[in-house]
Amino acid sequence: MKPRGMQQYLKVRERMVREQLIPRGINDPLVLKAIGEVPRHIFVEDALQVQAYGDYPLPIGEGQTISQPYIVALMTEMLELKGNEKVLEIGTGCGYQTAVLAKLCDRVYSVERIKKLMARARINLDKAGCFNTLCKMADGTMGWPEHGPYDGIIVTAGGPEIPSTLIEQLTEPGIMVIPVGPRDSQQLVRVSKKDGRVNYEKGEKVRFVSLIGAQGWKIEQ
Ligand code: SAH
Repeated sequence: MKPRGMQQYLKVRERMVREQLIPRGINDPLVLKAIGEVPRHIFVEDALQVQAYGDYPLPIGEGQTISQPYIVALMTEMLELKGNEKVLEIGTGCGYQTAVLAKLCDRVYSVERIKKLMARARINLDKAGCFNTLCKMADGTMGWPEHGPYDGIIVTAGGPEIPSTLIEQLTEPGIMVIPVGPRDSQQLVRVSKKDGRVNYEKGEKVRFVSLIGAQGWKIEQ
């Protein structure tokens, strides 16, 4: 199939929202609008652009992936963003989730441990016109203390446990969404800080690439 033009991608994107997100229960109008607007195809390599709106994750190089659209929508919805928040993302990858968040909050700080991906994500985010994002290369399990605390934290790689550093960098009230569990299967957990307490709610079963770092997995597999 030949790469399609922007206009044609708009239709494919609307169909993605209609067929993959709404029937599975994503109903925050702001999330649906943001995902309907972000040009997902520019975040993947040229040869994969025609598959960018499919109901699955895709490779982005370095053994990493861009998440399935539904998972991006679900995790974004769980953050309950209203527009004025400061959000920390761990695992920039290609920058797609970053771009979706950028439409829904005031500022996104995103951390990625692989230099090549970080460099490409910056280019992608510029192309998508996301100028309220700041990215750095580091071990995201340590958060990004200089800009914290954050109203929302989203971790887009799966770790064995919830990094305590990230809980510390969450405002009160504040919400963090993170996949937790063994390397090959995790469960989404929503951590919310409220009234002096930290609550943990379990969500859907998911399968993410590994969160590697001081408070994640120690070695790459
Ligand atoms: N949100 C991304 C998903 C990328 S996959 C997207 O939409 O494309 C998860 C990413 O997390 C990978 O790029 C991986 O390199 C990164 N990662 C894993 N452990 C990390 C850590 N400790 N700090 C920062 N990034 C990490």
